[in-house]
Amino acid sequence: MGETIFSKIIRKEIPAKIVFESETVLAFRDINPQAPEHILIIPKINDIARVTDIDGNRHSKLLGEMFDAVNTIAKELGIDKDGFRLVINNGENAGQDVEHLHIHMLGGRKMTWPPG
Ligand code: 5GP
Repeated sequence: MGETIFSKIIRKEIPAKIVFESETVLAFRDINPQAPEHILIIPKINDIARVTDIDGNRHSKLLGEMFDAVNTIAKELGIDKDGFRLVINNGENAGQDVEHLHIHMLGGRKMTWPPG
């Protein structure tokens, strides 16, 4: 838990293509996009490394704000009607690289199932 590359993006120490920002949530374009639209939605606090660190009592408001951000971004990007996929990689088997909770938002193309 704590400092990651995303902490530097939050503090604007390294650049990112920001698409949404509030007091508690930041969203920016993934540097290695896997779809025409690939946005990462993150909390600005850096004490939630993974889904398994979420505490419903403490984090429910923040999680609601993250999903509100998803819906705002979907409308702004024009992918709310056609649909999009949300992915949260949690831990090694899922391929999580950055230990700061993030929702991947993928859109702008048809997705396949099952995921790899
Ligand atoms: P994970 O594999 O942890 O679920 O996803 C981490 C994501 O962060 C990857 O899709 C990766 O491309 C993205 N990423 C890693 N470093 C940076 C960065 O410095 N800037 C941006 N915009 N995305 C990053």
